[in-house]
Amino acid sequence: MTETSPAETARSALEAWRSALPDDLYAADPHLSELNRRSLSGTRLADLEANAAEFGRRVVRVVAPLVASFEKRDPVLESWDGRGRRVEHIDFDAAYHEAGAVLWEAGLVANAAVAGYSFEQATLAYLAAYEGEMGHLCAATCTTGLIRVLRRSDAQEVAERFLPGLTTRSYLRALRGAQFITEVQGGSDVGANAAKAVAAGDGTYRISGEKWFCSVADADLFLILARPEDAAAGTAGLGCFLVPRLVDGAVNGFSIRRLKDKLGTRSMASAEIDFDGALAHPIALDGGFRLMVTAMLNTSRWLNAVGDVGIMRRAYAEAMTYATHRRAFGRAIVGFPLVQRSLARMKAEWLAALHSTWHLTSLDEVADRAATGQEVDADDVDFHRFLVNANKLVVSESATGVVRLGIEVLGGNGAIESFSPLPRLLRDSVVFEQWEGTHNVLAEQVRRDLVRLGLTGLVFDRIRRTLKTNGHPVTDRAAAALNALEAGIARCLDDDAHGAMHFRDELTKAVRIFQVGLLADAARAAEARTRSGELLAAAALLFDEHVATDARPADDAGFAARIAAVLGEDSTGIDTPATDAAGPG
Ligand SMILES: Cc1cc2nc3c(=O)[nH]c(=O)nc-3n(C[C@H](O)[C@H](O)[C@H](O)COP(=O)(O)OP(=O)(O)OC[C@H]3O[C@@H](n4cnc5c(N)ncnc54)[C@H](O)[C@@H]3O)c2cc1C
Repeated sequence: MTETSPAETARSALEAWRSALPDDLYAADPHLSELNRRSLSGTRLADLEANAAEFGRRVVRVVAPLVASFEKRDPVLESWDGRGRRVEHIDFDAAYHEAGAVLWEAGLVANAAVAGYSFEQATLAYLAAYEGEMGHLCAATCTTGLIRVLRRSDAQEVAERFLPGLTTRSYLRALRGAQFITEVQGGSDVGANAAKAVAAGDGTYRISGEKWFCSVADADLFLILARPEDAAAGTAGLGCFLVPRLVDGAVNGFSIRRLKDKLGTRSMASAEIDFDGALAHPIALDGGFRLMVTAMLNTSRWLNAVGDVGIMRRAYAEAMTYATHRRAFGRAIVGFPLVQRSLARMKAEWLAALHSTWHLTSLDEVADRAATGQEVDADDVDFHRFLVNANKLVVSESATGVVRLGIEVLGGNGAIESFSPLPRLLRDSVVFEQWEGTHNVLAEQVRRDLVRLGLTGLVFDRIRRTLKTNGHPVTDRAAAALNALEAGIARCLDDDAHGAMHFRDELTKAVRIFQVGLLADAARAAEARTRSGELLAAAALLFDEHVATDARPADDAGFAARIAAVLGEDSTGIDTPATDAAGPG
């Protein structure tokens, strides 16, 4: 009998690790399904779950190998065709389009056709993000935003013309949307935009100017902010226009300077584009910026957070399963307390982000319905306005940290591109932090909204509601911390200079307390009982890490048990007696 070499044993463990990763994503994610079950019922829930189950399996079996293939090849700009005609074509690996067909067919975009199906979209986007499929998620997000813009605008003729193509499930026939706001002189400072819109006299406009960041540069329809002649300076004078890529089969008055060489989301083409008299349909001449923010950017900020939660889920799944299969010093590394602590942190962050983002999803449905004239609770719409920005800030910052922790658990292997998707997810998560509003800009937006719209009372009331006592000390501690925070936030709102320096930190704490409350509340909900221990332990860990200034884990004799409680059923693989945990120097 031949003896198995140490290298072969280690390689077998790595193979066992890959096969331990779930191949039925929805079934393997009870926290997600419990959240959907708490919010929906009847045939809507049944349809969502059946579709999600099928899609989750297809993501693993069909999309994952396609992503692995097309991620190796960046999109390529082909400005001219063989006969010297300007085409501005962007060439992708065939696998990119095959993956797109799976996502579109599942209804990732089609669900946006009617207001109020946000849970369906969020569930599919989350499952797709598990595979890190950011190439198409960006396009799906922009297309969803464009559908909402058209659903909500007065430009009925344009809407009727383009909505069927935007909402189809057929990727081959689909029109895909993009949003071009940013110019080189300012992304956050949108009021500095200089692109011009000149009336053509027939109801259409001609757009000229430069757009500096144009993601989904291969889209069929671009939603653009540009300034009509004689319009006011700043954001007030910006109109919102729809620019088709082609007019009568020819490129519509634009040229792509180059594709950006990006840190992350590389499978999707982002370009610098010059417009020179491109035909444009006016969507909103007055209030163009407002429509862009409420229908497009708020959609992107919500789905951006959903994507981040999917990234976190994947990073945690990779790290947790790896830790149960990888051995060092004679034991599975999950047995080391420091590895357990990293895993528990990752899980707590993921669960917190999942819960706040699913709460946002319920508000997104309400805001979407409100925008199409349906009667809703106005407080929900106001709280949505707060949470869509605050949640994106906290969740996108947290996602990068979670992926980094995952890479640490995988050790040197974690830094290797062909070993796991974590290097790609790290790059993508950093990009997620920058686009759709940087952290500072989101914090400033929230500060302005609280002052101008007087939302502070509502926000604190909503956070307090989640902290109703459930017999667990964390909710009492969180309620006390929230009381103290109220004064700090009030000072930030009253004193501009103080607020400009400190509000972001205070806001982050408020969102963390909200997440603590949501986790504790979920633990109380009937369906979550089997996992209520995990949820409460995650809430307590989150509170200690982000809010409690007096937390001293080293003095807490029950800390190891708390870490084990966060890991819950996931930690069944923990074997090991204590051994020497000292690693190599
Ligand atoms: C890969 C990628 C794709 C993108 N795709 C698109 C796209 O398709 N369409 C599009 O329109 N844009 C796109 N963007 C642009 C993105 O939205 C902007 O980069 C973002 O809005 C920030 O703008 P900026 O880069 O000009 O940064 P700046 O506005 O120059 O900000 C630089 C720094 O200053 C800080 N800052 C700015 N103002 C303030 C303030 N008032 N208070 C405190 N701090 C402040 C910011 O937080 C940031 O840290 C993309 C970006 C990336 C990275």
